[in-house]
Amino acid sequence: MKMGRPHVLAIPYPAQGHVLPLMELAQCMANSGIRVTFVNTEFNHRRIVKALPDNESISELIELASIPDGMELWEDRNDLGKLTEAMLRVMPEKLEALVEEINSGAEEDKIVCVIADYGLSFAFEVAEKFGVKKTAFLPASVALLALALDAPRLVDEGILDCDGTPLKDETIRLSLDMPEIRTVDLAWTRIGDAAAQKICFNSMLKSIESAKHIDRILCNSSRALEPAALKIVSACSPVGPLLASARLGCSAGHFWQEDAACLEWLDEQPSNSTVYAAFGSFTVFDRIQFRELALGLELTNRPFLWVVRNDIIDDSDNAFPDGFLDRVKLRGKIVKWAPQQKVLGHTAIACFISHCGWNSTMEGVGNGVPFLCWPYFADQFLNATYIADCWGVGLAAVKDGSGGVGREEIKRKIERLMGDERYKVRALELQAMAGEDGTSGKNLEEFVEWIKEIKL
Ligand code: UDP
Repeated sequence: MKMGRPHVLAIPYPAQGHVLPLMELAQCMANSGIRVTFVNTEFNHRRIVKALPDNESISELIELASIPDGMELWEDRNDLGKLTEAMLRVMPEKLEALVEEINSGAEEDKIVCVIADYGLSFAFEVAEKFGVKKTAFLPASVALLALALDAPRLVDEGILDCDGTPLKDETIRLSLDMPEIRTVDLAWTRIGDAAAQKICFNSMLKSIESAKHIDRILCNSSRALEPAALKIVSACSPVGPLLASARLGCSAGHFWQEDAACLEWLDEQPSNSTVYAAFGSFTVFDRIQFRELALGLELTNRPFLWVVRNDIIDDSDNAFPDGFLDRVKLRGKIVKWAPQQKVLGHTAIACFISHCGWNSTMEGVGNGVPFLCWPYFADQFLNATYIADCWGVGLAAVKDGSGGVGREEIKRKIERLMGDERYKVRALELQAMAGEDGTSGKNLEEFVEWIKEIKL
């Protein structure tokens, strides 16, 4: 490791969709001459190291460190309420000890700035104690932050109770250029049970308070994509879409090993022919819904690449409909974890059946791919509205009377997306717009210069 470069500490919220974009940012910074120590939870650190491809090494570029998250090995880290509680109990002290250890070393090793996930207010408190600069990184849409900033008003007006539960079913639209959202679909109401919602809502309000005292806020978005939201949250500086294709680096940060063989399979498919179905790192399906998706993909009669994580459904090896794997083997490829950004950039891909996590949204947009939106959790409902209603690059998968998305609906919507060229044209226009004005690149350069000039 070269010495004499300004040293920053980057800390993501410990979930896949938060680790990956901050890792992108960290690699961009490292490539611009900044020394980065990336702090994962011990649990995630082990997964990330295990998932790194054999021929890749991250240590030349950035240093990895880890601290405990306060949960036992066997506990469910997808229970965000429990995870948040455990983290708040244990991580502040551990982080403080880590900064103490680094800062008690040589002068040139000292941390000049902590870059933490917007939601980790304790990290900013630790930074404050050591007198180092504070930067928040928002891995979600700026629209989500604008809605979160509006939450106290909704509580005051009796639209939400003080735990964030909607008391009225209303539609909120902060600007005509922003997605409208029903109160029952606000991110914190779609996060789990009532206990999880209460913990996450209160933690969010605390983050908003804490963000008033930080130096910088960066977000994985762009001015072209979210002009209205960025007007509302003018302190946010967009540096996205943060896509791996934009830099030379390594693919570190994945919790599961990417199955690169599916790219060779894609090479054999005709251009603009293949449906890509992937639902991020969190989504779980019940057995009926999983079957309908399988049968829907079969009904489309098109090539498809489908990511079926081991934990997407109980007993995933045996959940497929009878005979399905045999019937689709010539045109269907199923993987446990895909190199998603490379997949979306492949010429064979025609459309993306997505849960609309913000990273997947940025990656689909950044590659000019139309979406079939199938939101499941948290802010995905808001993102789906951006995609379908504001940007016009996708369609919504509509649930039927049984509460699920049926196979015929999947077939119908894929036919519409692929049969009507306007979706692809619009997706390509949005792709061009997203990166065109250069603001994100300039913001990133300016941020790097700011880091280099910090004097403690
Ligand atoms: N991802 C991937 N391979 C997969 C599925 C997802 O690399 O097979 C990546 C995807 O590119 C994205 C992240 O995992 O960067 C998922 O983040 P997102 O915000 O879309 O969803 P979340 O996992 O947070 O629900």
